[in-house]
Order: sequence, then C-alpha cells, then structure tokens
Amino acid sequence: MTNPYSWLDKSLNTIHRANWYRSVKTIAQKPGAVVELLGKPVVNFASNDYLGLAGDQRLIEAAVAATKAHGTGSTGSRLLSGHRELHRDLELAIASLKQTEDALVFSSGYLANLGTVSALVGQRDLILGDLYNHSSLKKGAILSGATTIDYQHNDLADLRHKLENNRALYRRCLITTDSVFSMDGDLCPLPELIAIAEEFASMLLIDEAHATGVLGNTGAGCVEHFSCTGKELIQIGTLSKALGSLGGYVAGSATLIDFLRNRAASWIYTTALSPADTAAAIAAIEVIKQEPHLRKQLWHNINYLKQQLSDLELLPSESSILCINLDTPEAALNKAQQLIDAGIFAPAIRPPTVPTSRIRLSLMATHQRSHLDLLASLI
Ligand SMILES: *Cc1c(COP(=O)(O)O)cnc(C)c1O
Repeated sequence: MTNPYSWLDKSLNTIHRANWYRSVKTIAQKPGAVVELLGKPVVNFASNDYLGLAGDQRLIEAAVAATKAHGTGSTGSRLLSGHRELHRDLELAIASLKQTEDALVFSSGYLANLGTVSALVGQRDLILGDLYNHSSLKKGAILSGATTIDYQHNDLADLRHKLENNRALYRRCLITTDSVFSMDGDLCPLPELIAIAEEFASMLLIDEAHATGVLGNTGAGCVEHFSCTGKELIQIGTLSKALGSLGGYVAGSATLIDFLRNRAASWIYTTALSPADTAAAIAAIEVIKQEPHLRKQLWHNINYLKQQLSDLELLPSESSILCINLDTPEAALNKAQQLIDAGIFAPAIRPPTVPTSRIRLSLMATHQRSHLDLLASLI
C-alpha cells in the first residue's frame, strides 16, 4: 500500500524544480520604511503600508484603548453576539470616505470578495473578470457557481466581444476588476467599464485594495481619481494596506449592503473583526481625512523614483506599485538576493502568481530620499 500523503513530497519537488518554491521571511521591529530582516536592517520596498500608518502611534493607541474597553475578541459573528458600536462606526466612516450610502466590514478583503461575488451571482449568471484580477475575485467566482469568463487584461474590445456573445444567455451579469492591479500597478479603465456595464445591463465590482488611501483627492480611491464618485458600483477594499489594520469592506448602496448582510456567507458565518483592528481602522480613516500631506508625500516619492528609474524596463504604473521586468524567475531571484545583500528588501514575484518575472517595489510616504537613491543606484 502506498502512503496516501506521499504525493505531497513529489508535488513540492516539482515546485522546487520550477523555481516556484516560496517560504516566509521573518521581519522584526515595528512596520516602517526600515525594518529588520534576518537580523539585518533593510529598506522595505515590500510593504502595503503605503502611508506608514501600521506603526503610527495614533492607531496603536486606538487599538490599545479598544482592547482595554472591549477585550481582545469580538466573541461571535456580527448577527449573533459579535456586533459592537465600533463596527458600525467604522462602516459609517468608510461610507463617508467613499461617499456611498453604506458599507459592510468583513474580516479580510479576501473574505469580502468571496462573500460578495458568491452572494450576487449564481448558476444562472455570468461573471466577466479581468485576467489579472486578484485571487480572491477568481476564487469568489468559482464559489458562486456562475459561468466565469476572463477577458484579456484591461482589454475593452475583448470584454465587449465576450459580452456580445454571452450576455443574453444569462440572467444577471457581474463584471469584476481590480482598480489598481496588485502585481503590476496599472489602473483599470473605470469610466469605460462603467459605460460598458450600463450598456450590457451588468453589475460592476471594483476592488480598491491598493487604491484606498492612495488615489483620489481625499484618498477615496480609483473611483474618486476618475471622478466616478456617486455612480452605482460595488466597491471592495481592504483595511490592511494603506489603512494599516486588518479587515475588508464593501461600499455601495444601502440596498446592496442590506442584501449582503443577509446573503454573504463569509460575513454571516465568521467572527466579527476584533475591537483592536476595528478601532485602528477608524483612526486610520481619520488620519487620511485630516492629513492629505501623507498622500502627497507618497506621490512625491513615486514620481521621484520613476524619474530615477526611467532608463529601465518598468511595467506601466499609475500607483504606488512599480515593477521592473526580468526575463526569468532565476534572474528575478538573483536580483532580489543582490538587493537584500545591499540592504534593500524588494521581492521577486514569479509565476504562477504573475505571467512574467519581476522585482516589485511598493513605495511608502515614509521612504526618505536617501532610501530611494540607494535603490536607484543598486538597480
Ligand atoms: C490584498 C488584496 C486583497 C485581499 O485583502 P486582505 O485584506 O489582505 O485579505 C483583495 N484584493 C486585492 C486586489 C488585494 O490586493
């Protein structure tokens, strides 16, 4: 008899041979522009903490105060014993930032996408998703049971073609897209997507994970950046990137949110966000509203680094994510190792996460000019 688990070793070997193997790296100290990696200080270009809020004293104090007042756990799902006033305060703060009627907070952005997509469409329905969408949108599509067709990345002609051929065969249709594509840094063509969705009587879901707090005049995201505030959309986001906390959200019409409270399984059957995470996210939204200079500093850093790297093959980007293309996974791994040895943490991103290998840089408002110069000189 063969051991029923022996395939695990074989499978891992295949992953190693393809240079696809990944493992965790331990970071010490508080989040920031410089962190300790394997006992050595490195400038951090791998963090989603775009505004530097994850280590901000005000968020820390809000989290500590909420823990002292409400304890460490929320003890149940929102519909049973888990709901606190803090949760509602956070949802109202998100709706106010996004200028939507209401919002709903999930325990992560991943769960927000799983729950929302699978609640909005089912077996008689169609999902058209951008090929480069985040894993959580793709898995949500599978979970929903809807027929799912990917369109080529940001390719409106391909989307239109696929809608023309398929839309009439299905009851409801949901178009899904990242707003900032997380492994490339480019933006979706939102105004055009809104027009196509309207033309084909389709819902449009936009994932603002990397845009909230970064794009738009008030930091509301890509929707605000494109002056599409107030359009009927399903906006997803996370509290774990620029907001420096943990959790996810959906923002939209009051009807949409009321429906999701009744139908999104990943909201109904999971424990409510902890008081600490909730309070930290509320404090972060307050900082984002009160301190637009953080966002300005971030954009200053992005534009400065782009200028310094203008001789290189950068992927098109309009966000705080910049990618340098490399030919092979080995080349990307070697480059990342060289950078680490020189005190720069910038990860290699390889297949199967992305189609082509690259070094991915995440900029923060808290990077100093000297950090950016060091990176530019090494690359
Ligand atoms: C990070 C990310 C998520 C998941 O958010 P979490 O809160 O980390 O679970 C979802 N969508 C996109 C586009 C992301 O980049």
